Amino acid sequence: MFVADYLETFLLDWEGKVSCVLFLSGCNFRCPWCQNKDLALGRIDPDKTETITEILRKFVPHNTLDDR
Ligand code: SF4
Repeated sequence: MFVADYLETFLLDWEGKVSCVLFLSGCNFRCPWCQNKDLALGRIDPDKTETITEILRKFVPHNTLDDR
């Protein structure tokens, strides 16, 4: 699973808190109403994808991740 894109700062989902939004690529369903078909089918630029671990390393102190 790859992170196709992310919003580093998002203020709407959690009242009074700042959050980060990850847009993941790949989905096993094929809903006809899907508004994100390119993301769902993995049609993304592979040079722009990052793994969840790579994204987490931008926001979480390295020693916290290395302890796991
Ligand atoms: S709407 Fe799109 S992303 Fe959501 S479950 Fe259906 S196919 Fe997957």
